[in-house]
Amino acid sequence: MKPAPFRYHAPKTIEEAVQTLAAVAGEDGRVLAGGQSLVPIMAFRLARPAHLVDINGVEALRRLAVDGDKLVIGACVRHAAFHQPVVPGPLGLLLSKVVRHIAHYPIRTRGTFCGSIAHADPASEWCLVATALGAEMVARSAGGTRTIAADDFFRGIMTTALKEDELLTEVQLPILPADTRCGFYEFNRRAGDFALAMALVSYRMQNGVIGEARVAVGGVEPQPRRIAQAEQGLAGKSPGKEAFEAAADAAMAAVDPLEDAITSADYRRDLTRTVTRRALEQAAA
Ligand SMILES: Cc1cc2nc3c(=O)[nH]c(=O)nc-3n(C[C@H](O)[C@H](O)[C@H](O)COP(=O)(O)OP(=O)(O)OC[C@H]3O[C@@H](n4cnc5c(N)ncnc54)[C@H](O)[C@@H]3O)c2cc1C
Repeated sequence: MKPAPFRYHAPKTIEEAVQTLAAVAGEDGRVLAGGQSLVPIMAFRLARPAHLVDINGVEALRRLAVDGDKLVIGACVRHAAFHQPVVPGPLGLLLSKVVRHIAHYPIRTRGTFCGSIAHADPASEWCLVATALGAEMVARSAGGTRTIAADDFFRGIMTTALKEDELLTEVQLPILPADTRCGFYEFNRRAGDFALAMALVSYRMQNGVIGEARVAVGGVEPQPRRIAQAEQGLAGKSPGKEAFEAAADAAMAAVDPLEDAITSADYRRDLTRTVTRRALEQAAA
């Protein structure tokens, strides 16, 4: 099928983009970034925006840079930019590992990091990264700019705190200290498919035991989430089988999984335990 008719806008500056968005938001005007989610749903006529505001010509949105203790990812930075570490240390390595799980290479050359965040698919790898690491999202409209913490940003399946007239101009990720240990594990049925469950963990060793533990799970519930029970269970423990299995059990007990015609909630619950344990093992390796 072909998309329903729409008007196409191609702003060249952020200011022009937000002014255009302000003018068309009321008529279901949408931002077009990589088009890898929006264009298919338009082709199926599941979305019929009357206006598309194509941000690909806005040079300032291609910024990918370290700014103080943050990695700043502009709205036009493609997934593929992360194939090689974009920053020295554990954050760059983690992102280069995670990106390989997103779709297939041609899609990664078009789809954007911020597009994934704005789209908020429950099984988006970048949404899990943003939640686990405590990202900050910078949203701009004709009325001004605001910064939204990851915990306040994701509001359910494909639902975020972004308003209709807001452009997500950048996402900021904290640069991880050099001694941070990270692990990411995803399960899907075929390479390139969306995850049925995935976990991202990080911790630092403090006096020989685990400190600053983060355990987040994605693809299981309507939005990715840090699992406090698993994190608390790891605090002060030696990394190893006993602590990791207890944390994985805690994660499994804490989740309230989605289910669909193919994947039951029980199966996703079980997967939660496995992906959490494997992510922890990877972090310790
Ligand atoms: C076959 C296939 C497999 C895929 N597998 C995966 C996968 O395994 N994991 C995964 O995470 N993704 C997957 N995707 C989705 C892909 O990662 C998309 O690139 C991503 O979801 C959206 O990014 P985009 O830049 O293409 O956004 P678009 O498709 O352009 O936009 C998506 C939505 O976000 C809004 N939007 C985009 N950017 C902004 C912005 N800066 N400000 C405000 N709103 C904005 C748009 O208006 C639209 O509503 C897959 C896609 C396909 C086609």
